[in-house]
Amino acid sequence: PPPGQVVLRAEQVTKRFAGLVANDAVDLEVKAGEVHALIGPNGAGKSTFFNMISGVDDPSAGQVALLGQPMTGKPARAFAALGMGRTFQHVRLLGQRTVLENVALGAHLRGRRGWLSAMLQTDRHEEAALLAEARKQIERCGLQSYIDTPAASLPLGQQRIVEIARALAGQPSILLLDEPAAGLRHLEKQALVQLLVQLRAEGLAVLVVEHDMEFVMNLADRVTVLEFGRVIALGTPDEVQANPRVMQAYLGV
Ligand code: ADP
Ligand code: MG
Repeated sequence: PPPGQVVLRAEQVTKRFAGLVANDAVDLEVKAGEVHALIGPNGAGKSTFFNMISGVDDPSAGQVALLGQPMTGKPARAFAALGMGRTFQHVRLLGQRTVLENVALGAHLRGRRGWLSAMLQTDRHEEAALLAEARKQIERCGLQSYIDTPAASLPLGQQRIVEIARALAGQPSILLLDEPAAGLRHLEKQALVQLLVQLRAEGLAVLVVEHDMEFVMNLADRVTVLEFGRVIALGTPDEVQANPRVMQAYLGV
């Protein structure tokens, strides 16, 4: 999609659990060539929202559209097939497998088959194509030196980048990142910011859920702030930081 085009649109997304509204009519859109950050205190409803917009869980009300297609109620694999790539709060790599193998598996996320059957049934021709795609994404992410390294022996910062490369191997239009900076050292965060800036310039839409304010403020074009399941602010990092409502939500002042 061309820069500025809305890739993901969530309208009035609501999630009710017994006795609790975890998401209350949340509106959010992510455009091609934009890094959009979703922030908010613990329990604000960020993970719930992430699940609603990636097909992991269904909203109680509201709509989700991906590339203009209505997706509400569809399963996660339908989102992946249409061009959503994601990473998880806790790294999910096959630790004993190499970086190349892990990234090659990502190319299957877009397919109809699960990764296990894909791994067992892939024919030689298909396998060669997957490996070529994986090499391309490994280079795009600057991981060439680690291509044959078992994922588990890399530092956390590089494992997170391997996860991004794996998501990219599915050729997504949008990347969803769940707390990508958590637990990273300063230099690792800088490397991650640099990669995401590059992907944004390449036209990808990026939605990041993150606690790390410095990371968000260095990176995001727009920030949506959730509190008690409601959007309390939307704006540039500067606008959001200066918003008294946001300061109150974060600092309790
Ligand atoms: P965040 O990711 O912003 O910390 P969550 O989305 O995890 O917040 O949670 C938002 C609220 O919804 C919290 O009060 C949480 O306890 C509640 N919640 C989340 N998942 C469930 C669930 N499956 N059942 C009941 N309550 C839930
Ligand atoms: Mg969470």
